[in-house]
Amino acid sequence: MAEKRDYYEVMGVERTASQDQIKKAYRKKAKECHPDFHPNDPQAEAKFKELNEANEVLSDPDKRAAYDRYGHSAFEQGGMGGGGFSGDFSGGFSGMDMGDIFGDMFGSIFGGGSRRRNGPSRGADISMTIVLTFEEAVFGCKKTIDVDTIDNCDTCHGTGAKPGTSPQTCPTCHGSGSETVTRQTMFGMAQTVTTCHTCGGRGKIVKDPCTSCNGTGRVRKKKQIELDIPCGISNGQTIRKSGHGQAGTGGGGYGDLLVTVSVRPSAEFVRQDRNILSDIKISVVQAILGAEVTIRTIDGEEKYNIKPGTQPDAKIFLKGKGVPYLRTPNRRGDHIVTVKVEIPTNLSDKQKELIREFGGLPKKESFSDKIKKAFN
Ligand SMILES: [Zn+2]
Ligand SMILES: [Zn+2]
Repeated sequence: MAEKRDYYEVMGVERTASQDQIKKAYRKKAKECHPDFHPNDPQAEAKFKELNEANEVLSDPDKRAAYDRYGHSAFEQGGMGGGGFSGDFSGGFSGMDMGDIFGDMFGSIFGGGSRRRNGPSRGADISMTIVLTFEEAVFGCKKTIDVDTIDNCDTCHGTGAKPGTSPQTCPTCHGSGSETVTRQTMFGMAQTVTTCHTCGGRGKIVKDPCTSCNGTGRVRKKKQIELDIPCGISNGQTIRKSGHGQAGTGGGGYGDLLVTVSVRPSAEFVRQDRNILSDIKISVVQAILGAEVTIRTIDGEEKYNIKPGTQPDAKIFLKGKGVPYLRTPNRRGDHIVTVKVEIPTNLSDKQKELIREFGGLPKKESFSDKIKKAFN
């Protein structure tokens, strides 16, 4: 036997290549030197043979292990034994099924695009945003939204055929959407699979197209969709409504509707995840003496007794008065109220006098006191 090239070199892969890498390398190289693409080119033919030989060894873990250990001599007479592998390719690819090779090869090189592109495909998702008030997000709500979508044509029910007619099974491909061309090559019968030229891969042909959709089976539509907004949803969260996106083609099903919520801030409350924050203003006197006040919560008004001697920025915790948890609405965060003590700015003289007295300061002389003093 003439000097053989290293199988790894033939395949153009590292010795450490994975089976996947070997498979990919084989497909790439097979495409390059396939005799169908190089008719009457003995060099391409020789390369293709060499490549297939290398692939048969490297794609089989046992044979590969033997090759790694013993090199080409592993497959010479007395090596692996004559059973599955002869090492002699001159008589053609006796050990290989041509249909498998070609089916696999053309399936991956060409089929990935053409056949699937025209087959059933799922409709596109629709993404949109809705604006909610603070309360709608906290308590949840129902919303009806208008969605611009693509749906199946009502006139023809998505078939694309004029009412009263129906799409015919394509006579060329009998509905499969692909054509198999069988040719005689120097290695035997070669089959190539291509998209059916008659139906463009749909498997059906429409003789009388529906006039509403021009035979496409799909039309633009405005739909109203009911949305259940769960309580406790946060700004920026997205609700997915499965099957409410665009209609697919060839019976591929609908995409999804994705609605992202944008929550408007409240004038009164600040939301901090599950807690609600707000302020309450009280007077100095209320802070000192204590008082019954009314606090506004998301549930409504609530009476609360401010304790005597309450300090500025003291916190009032109203447990369970916050935002419901998204999936367990019985569980809620807290409402935290910060007490803001207002310092009065326009007191009467009398009030100021009392404050001085309260503060233990000397009594301030009034104008009339000064006059009296001067004349005494
Ligand atoms: Zn139609
Ligand atoms: Zn066809």
